[in-house]
Amino acid sequence: SPKLIGITGGIGSGKTTVSKIFSILGIPIYYADDRAKWLMANNLDLIQKIKENFGEESYTENGELNRKYLAEKVFSDPENTTIINALVHPAVGADFENWATSQNSPYILKEAALLFETGSYKQLDKIINVSAPLKLRISRVMARDPQRDEKQINAIIDKQMPDEEKNKKADFIIKNGENKLLIPQVLKIHQALSSQNQNLNG
Ligand code: ATP
Repeated sequence: SPKLIGITGGIGSGKTTVSKIFSILGIPIYYADDRAKWLMANNLDLIQKIKENFGEESYTENGELNRKYLAEKVFSDPENTTIINALVHPAVGADFENWATSQNSPYILKEAALLFETGSYKQLDKIINVSAPLKLRISRVMARDPQRDEKQINAIIDKQMPDEEKNKKADFIIKNGENKLLIPQVLKIHQALSSQNQNLNG
C-alpha cells in the first residue's frame, strides 16, 4: 500500500496550491478538512455521536448539519471544540486509512491545516510543510477571501502552531515566499518519495 505523506501549512501558506501540483503528477490527495465536513454530514456513526453530545438540534429537520448551532456551541464554550474534535478526528483518521489502502500510487497525500496540532501526523510516514512569511500569508488570504478581515485571520493563526515550529518537525519544507518557484521544489520531493518506494519494493 502507498506511503502516507502529510502536507500541511498555516492559513494562506499555499498548501492547496502545492497539492494541486502533486495532483497533476498523478498523486491522489485526501483533503482532510473537506472530508471532515462530508463525514459530519453523512457518516451515521459520527452523526449519532454528535447528536448524543450536542443534542438533536445539531441537525436540521431535513438531516443537514446545523452549522450555525454547532458554531455557537463551540463559540460559547471552548471545551466543546475539544469534544467535537475528539469525535471528528478519529472518524477522519479511519476514513483516511480506508481510502489510502485503496489507492494505487507509490505515495498519497493527506492535506490538512492542522496535522501536528491534532496528532494525526502520527499515522503518516513523512510530513511536508508549506512555509511562507506571515505577512505574505495574511495578504494572500485577504486577496482570496475579501469577506474576511485581518482580525478573523489572526484568530485562526492563533490556533495554529507557528510556522518555524512546523518547519522543525517536518521532513520536507516547501518555501512559498515571494519569488520562490513551487514546481521544482515539488518535483524534487516527488522524486525522493517515488524512488524510496521503488527501493522498498526491490
Ligand atoms: P487555507 O489554509 O486558507 O486553505 P492554503 O494554505 O490552502 O490556505 P492556498 O489557498 O493554496 O493556501 O493559497 C492562498 C492564496 O494564495 C490563494 O489565493 C493562492 O492562489 C495564493 N497563492 C498561493 N501560493 C502563491 C504563489 N506562490 N504566488 C502567488 N499566489 C499564491
